[in-house]
Amino acid sequence: MTKRGHCLCGAVTWEYDGKETWACYCHCEDCRRNCAAPVTAFIGVRIESFRWTGATAKSYASSPGVQRHFCNTCGTPMAFQAEHYAGEIHLYAATLDAPETFEPKFHVHYAQRLPWLHLNDNLPKHDGSADQA
Ligand SMILES: [Zn+2]
Ligand SMILES: [Zn+2]
Repeated sequence: MTKRGHCLCGAVTWEYDGKETWACYCHCEDCRRNCAAPVTAFIGVRIESFRWTGATAKSYASSPGVQRHFCNTCGTPMAFQAEHYAGEIHLYAATLDAPETFEPKFHVHYAQRLPWLHLNDNLPKHDGSADQA
């Protein structure tokens, strides 16, 4: 089944088929600032099962070897790619056309979480990064 996503204005769209390699919350400061949100959530997919389908996203190198892709019109963060996750792209799960179908499986960079964010779940919480689920 194909899953699709879009930015706030609808210009940048993506789709992928097949299975996710990663489904988590990220609490790291870079993701929080990039999204201007207290936490974000990611879907990892193999690059060969992923396609951009709308306007070309703009990219920002947020740290060495890391690219964050966003809509050049409305600014919505869309995806993350990193040399340390070669062969994959990580999509911001909230950009899914149907984000309610997403199910995060664990937390990463939990040690950086904001003290005023309270999430009541029993998912594994990794202080740093995690091996791929
Ligand atoms: Zn947009
Ligand atoms: Zn992060």
